[in-house]
Amino acid sequence: MRAVVIKGEWAPRRELSPEEVAGRWARDATAAWREPKWTLDERAVPRVAGPHDVLVRSKAVGICGSDVHLHETDDEGYVLLPYRVRLPLVPGHEIAGEVVEVGAEVRRVRPGDPVAVQTLQYCGRCGACRSGLPGHCVDAEDSGFTIDGGMAEFVLSRESNVRSLAAVRERYSERDTYEIGALCEPASVAYVGLFLRGGGFRPGGIATVHGCGPIGLASVSLLRAAGAAKVLAFDTEPARCKLAELVGADAAYDVTKLRGDGMRPSDVVLEQTSGEGADMCVEAAGAAAAVLPEIERSISVGGKVVLLGSESGAVPMQTMAYLLRGASVHGSIGNIGGLDPVIALHAASRIDLRPIVTARFDLAAATDAVRQASLRQDAKILVKV
Ligand SMILES: [Zn+2]
Repeated sequence: MRAVVIKGEWAPRRELSPEEVAGRWARDATAAWREPKWTLDERAVPRVAGPHDVLVRSKAVGICGSDVHLHETDDEGYVLLPYRVRLPLVPGHEIAGEVVEVGAEVRRVRPGDPVAVQTLQYCGRCGACRSGLPGHCVDAEDSGFTIDGGMAEFVLSRESNVRSLAAVRERYSERDTYEIGALCEPASVAYVGLFLRGGGFRPGGIATVHGCGPIGLASVSLLRAAGAAKVLAFDTEPARCKLAELVGADAAYDVTKLRGDGMRPSDVVLEQTSGEGADMCVEAAGAAAAVLPEIERSISVGGKVVLLGSESGAVPMQTMAYLLRGASVHGSIGNIGGLDPVIALHAASRIDLRPIVTARFDLAAATDAVRQASLRQDAKILVKV
């Protein structure tokens, strides 16, 4: 089968654990992998070997910021993704496709079914798993990071990790069903942050979203669906602001233009909330140094901050802003627990993220797709298989 493969040079620059060295993988890829090369290779089709295995023909695979960080490098040639990675690897973790073969004991899906693939295969043994937070498993395999992902003609998953898109297909065309399926991964990342880790907000609350990439745009849609009285969005790209309004923001503001007018995002939020501030503030820009001061000036008493944007490095925090308002900060990563509700919300037309797809590439052009994604002008780029 045709498959996109990332190869790289194993060159640890920090001390790794014996298990990482023995398994040639790194919990933090930036510590070990350099000179990543994306190529289109020929690979064997994965075999259904276990009774719970599910073989999926990839149809649509989203390009994520983390994929871009496995393409871009720092000054010393190391990848930028601070996450567990084993190379060589087929990337792609926002996967929708069609089931083509199932193991003997698979009951919930059968060949022909459209599915979204949850890529994290958590261990069930570690402290995170035992305490009910398997999305933070320290011993997980993750398709597209430690085991082969979806940017290939076929991807192997297992019954507990695939989710039927049959209810979506009842409402949408086949093409849209698979595109929605791929979009459900970033949408579920937003869902987990807003509602599972962040605990949600009261209907009638006011929400702000800083950063209108796919996770921010999904946040906008979900906040609106969950009953926000007002959703205000901010980004530095006018095109992304338009998309935010298309998927549910009451207003979206170009931060660069605001600053030209002598305004800050927090001025807008205070103006729009009669000075009381927003009840849920989402950092989805991965630019906390710029965003947190705005949130700190414009969060309501009892408000919540949800951190979804990933970046390395430290940023200053005005702790008194949180103390004085009794505000809380919630970090979140991953999608465990979010996939089923976002599929249901799409199937019920409560959210519709189709407008956020701004470019589509064939599998053979996946390297061009990741290069275009690194320009950071698109919302969601899909690779169609
Ligand atoms: Zn675990």
